[in-house]
Amino acid sequence: MKLRPRKQFAQHWLKSDKALNQIIQAAEITKNDQVLEIGPGTGILTRRLLPLAQSVLAVEIDRDLCQLLTKQLRQVENFLLLQGDFLTLDLSACLASFPAFQKPNKVVANIPYNITGPILEKLLGRISNPAAEPYDLIVLLVQTEVAERLYAKPSSRAFGALSVRVQYLAECELICTVPASSFSPPPKVDSAIVRLRPLKSSTAALDPQYLETLVKLGFAAKRKMLRNNLHSIVDRDRLSQLLEQLEVNPQARAEDLSVAQWVALSNRLDEVTGERNDLSDP
Ligand code: SAH
Repeated sequence: MKLRPRKQFAQHWLKSDKALNQIIQAAEITKNDQVLEIGPGTGILTRRLLPLAQSVLAVEIDRDLCQLLTKQLRQVENFLLLQGDFLTLDLSACLASFPAFQKPNKVVANIPYNITGPILEKLLGRISNPAAEPYDLIVLLVQTEVAERLYAKPSSRAFGALSVRVQYLAECELICTVPASSFSPPPKVDSAIVRLRPLKSSTAALDPQYLETLVKLGFAAKRKMLRNNLHSIVDRDRLSQLLEQLEVNPQARAEDLSVAQWVALSNRLDEVTGERNDLSDP
């Protein structure tokens, strides 16, 4: 059975041995690992994961591919395939019917690029609601433009709200780039392998919901100074003062603050606005 790649599911089959080996190496798989793969496609990566890991749980949306994989990997005992949309699937509920498979501790995948943001959020959670049981390691193939934002350093071109949101929850590193010619059909963009190590306790922000809102507001208008973007919640002069206390240039833009500085600013502002609320109480 030969299947044509479907655009609607962002199907681009990886065909480069080199890239497959780089993904596998980056994932540091051992026999204790239960791996989750999102979008196994024709199973090229799956087949490499299976002999190394304790088990592989794959979620694939395309029914025809699921049929194909089920047929080809029927005999493999440590493989479980779930058909469905990874974004809406309740993994724990599905796993309850398969006692031999536990909740995965690693994620290794060449994901559909059109839903990269939502996949990251489902894997890591949000600043205000981090994943309750974070994965040990996540190795993903993503488009370079997204990869650059994930491991970007403050004040660099790619550093943005996504960088802060993801780096608050995980350590991110670039493993290597993968040219478009490594796929069939080749995507319009180049790709990169990234490795994320979710932080086990990201309790740095006193009020994570407030930090999440602050980051959103801070990055709302690009290229503007932070004190202008945040003027609806804190007076410009007061913010300049706070930034100076945090050893940040008062003229800084959102992209100039490191994650630690965002957290510190959020904690300080929370105190300041808290004071105000207290004062206004009769
Ligand atoms: N891992 C394979 C295929 C990558 S293409 C390889 O490297 O060759 C992306 C895969 O994700 C496709 O198989 C596509 O059908 C699947 N996919 C797309 N959207 C999905 C979703 N919402 N949930 C699960 N799988 C999805």
